[in-house]
Amino acid sequence: MRYATFSTSDDTQPRLGIVFADRVLDAGIIPRAPDSLLALIQRGPETWRGIAQAVAALDRPRTYAAIEVRWHAPIPRPTKNVFCIGRNYAEHIREGAKARGQTFTLPTHPVFFTKPPTSVIGPTDDISWNPGITQQVDWEAELGVVIGVGGRDIDRASALPHIFGYTVINDVSARDLQTAHGQFFKGKSLDTFCPMGPVIVTADEFGDPQNKRVSLRINGVEKQNGTTADMIFPVDQTIAILSLGCTLEPGDIISTGTPDGVGMGRTPQEWLKVGDLMETEVEGIGVLRNRVVAG
Ligand code: MG
Repeated sequence: MRYATFSTSDDTQPRLGIVFADRVLDAGIIPRAPDSLLALIQRGPETWRGIAQAVAALDRPRTYAAIEVRWHAPIPRPTKNVFCIGRNYAEHIREGAKARGQTFTLPTHPVFFTKPPTSVIGPTDDISWNPGITQQVDWEAELGVVIGVGGRDIDRASALPHIFGYTVINDVSARDLQTAHGQFFKGKSLDTFCPMGPVIVTADEFGDPQNKRVSLRINGVEKQNGTTADMIFPVDQTIAILSLGCTLEPGDIISTGTPDGVGMGRTPQEWLKVGDLMETEVEGIGVLRNRVVAG
């Protein structure tokens, strides 16, 4: 199943949608369907199965064309910060170390940080910032993991069944703030710095999370093209480590790090600028298309 959060010009209230190719079904036509994707996730596996069965039983329901609806982030306002891993692809670490004139070393523990719910925007929303606050805004295409069944101290071997599904995230990053503050949080947390969507693909449909391409284009020019096979800490191990003594809940989101090709690691370095179109793609999920506008 592919779930989205959408609204229409007639009814601007964001609501749960089910996506088939280029059509969106309003889940509101299904009796007792949750009114949001977050509510669906929180209700648990029995409800997920019930919705799937109800959808399969529908006889040619009315749907919307993808281009006639507004696409919101699948979870427009997460209940807590988005968990993120920094430095989860070896080549990305190498380029970061080079940019800072440091020696390249692989991490022994994942580097966790977070992005606040207020940074989240939809898959076609604009990105902006005040140039008086940052002048080095960079891109990071990432696979997002959405927890469906909560838990603490989750074993690596039983981690994947805790996942509801997967989405696309861009971990937009202000490098000058990241450096000045000596810590990731501030530079990762500006408003509009967490584009997400366009859908959540359920774990059963997505399949193995460690063989998907993660790519990014700026104005049609490819800047990143990696594979989740290169993650240093794969998704199951990340969940196991993050959940040690720390409860994960349904609807929690984990952004799993970015491959090489970010602007900071290029020679010369490249930063997002007003007018740029940033396209972020994860194989099997879809593409975020976010325009940079003046802040
Ligand atoms: Mg990142």
